[in-house]
Amino acid sequence: MENIFNNFGFNLSEKQLSAFENYYDLLNFYNSKFNITAITDRAEVYLKHFVDSIIGAKYIDGNFLDVGSGGGFPAIPVKILKPELTVVLLEATGKKCEFLKEVVKELKLDNVEIICGRAEEKAHDKFFREKFACATARAVAALPILSEYCLPFVKVGGKFVAYKGDAEEELRSAENAVKILGGTLDKAEKFDLRGNTRTIVVIRKKKTTDIIYPRANAKIRKKPL
Ligand code: SAM
Repeated sequence: MENIFNNFGFNLSEKQLSAFENYYDLLNFYNSKFNITAITDRAEVYLKHFVDSIIGAKYIDGNFLDVGSGGGFPAIPVKILKPELTVVLLEATGKKCEFLKEVVKELKLDNVEIICGRAEEKAHDKFFREKFACATARAVAALPILSEYCLPFVKVGGKFVAYKGDAEEELRSAENAVKILGGTLDKAEKFDLRGNTRTIVVIRKKKTTDIIYPRANAKIRKKPL
């Protein structure tokens, strides 16, 4: 069988390959109960969830928070690839949190915490605010909204890594939000995921975020910065 990780330049150990295999089995087994993903075909899960999640891993270091993890993307694949990282997965839906706890237990992942809650609320908690070297998010919201969810968690000097499709328009529309929240665009690297454009957007936190952010979700959505 094709080793898709090799084809994208990742050389994984037997232990890592078997962790991905176990993760796939768990997704498959629990999908109907927890409603995690519309993608179920093995090759598609490996490409569109696993490889897609680890293409941004080179930008992720230190302790990181994954906002809106859903079934664990990108956090779990990144943790399998880089086991030295400390990870917090923040997810609003209780059922998905249950699934994530099952994954952490079954894959015996250490230094991984699952928090069930909403980003715009947790970011005002002193245990989370400006405490992370890195925040990540994939498929959660458009970049102006996502920046307001994620940048308040990041320490000054840290970064926010957003997994996006073709992001040119979103990058333009997020310029104002990123600036207001204390960030600056570091990099937007494009990847070709077998015909689909992916962009890893790296935003560096330069200044502390004003305590008024993030606002309540209704405000964030009605009037993005
Ligand atoms: N990141 C995963 C992925 O790439 O497959 C899940 C994407 S799913 C489309 C979006 C997830 O973000 C959902 O599980 C939803 O519950 C969660 N979510 C949306 N808004 C959130 C918020 N403000 N705080 C925490 N989680 C949120």
